[in-house]
Amino acid sequence: MVIGLGRFGSALALELVSRGTEVLGIDNRPKVVQLMVGRIPHVITADTTDIEALRQLGVAEFHRAVVAIGTDIQASILTTSLLSELGIADIWAKAISDQHGNILTRVGAHHVVAPEHDMGERVAHLLSGRILDYVEVDADFAVIKTKPPRDVVGVPLRESRLRSRWGVTVVAVKPQAALAGRQPTFTYATPDTVLSYGDLILVVGAVDNVERFAAAE
Ligand code: ADP
Repeated sequence: MVIGLGRFGSALALELVSRGTEVLGIDNRPKVVQLMVGRIPHVITADTTDIEALRQLGVAEFHRAVVAIGTDIQASILTTSLLSELGIADIWAKAISDQHGNILTRVGAHHVVAPEHDMGERVAHLLSGRILDYVEVDADFAVIKTKPPRDVVGVPLRESRLRSRWGVTVVAVKPQAALAGRQPTFTYATPDTVLSYGDLILVVGAVDNVERFAAAE
């Protein structure tokens, strides 16, 4: 169940639908719902701050819900607490600030996501150095997509001493050149992997370390 079909909720619902997940989309604005008819198989107009409306929709049958209401904080908090009261096992909620996130956790959200905040942080990393993609997997640990610095090119990874020099590990490589006519894809790296200029690599490590590595010439 995805509640609130704004930019975040509609993108989430459509992605789930495209991956074969059964989704019920809910929004209190009929115009928004109308736009999703035919794109999300089950989509309905309802005010999710009304417990009777939730009961009528059979919401308690769902084991997972995402509250994607952001701007209307009151509606977001009320909806989350009602879903918790109805015993939904896995509630995800979108927060627009830290305080909002804290309240959502207190009223029963099991997971809080802050897409604007996270994306802002991510773009900051993309802007610095050669980082082409950045995913923080913990507060101080990240996976980045980047290109190899000069002195790790042309030698097997086991000889590039990546851990002792930068504290990072190369986990996958996408060769720049197509091999045997096949489109290049990412494959796991081994100690024997030899990187070339222009290859794309996935590197994991502490945030400071992956950043230092990506800034190396
Ligand atoms: P975004 O930034 O992702 O577009 P918004 O907070 O602007 O997020 O949009 C959230 C959506 O939630 C809107 O389409 C709005 O109509 C819907 N919404 C707001 N309040 C309720 C409610 N009480 N019940 C159901 N849907 C709601």
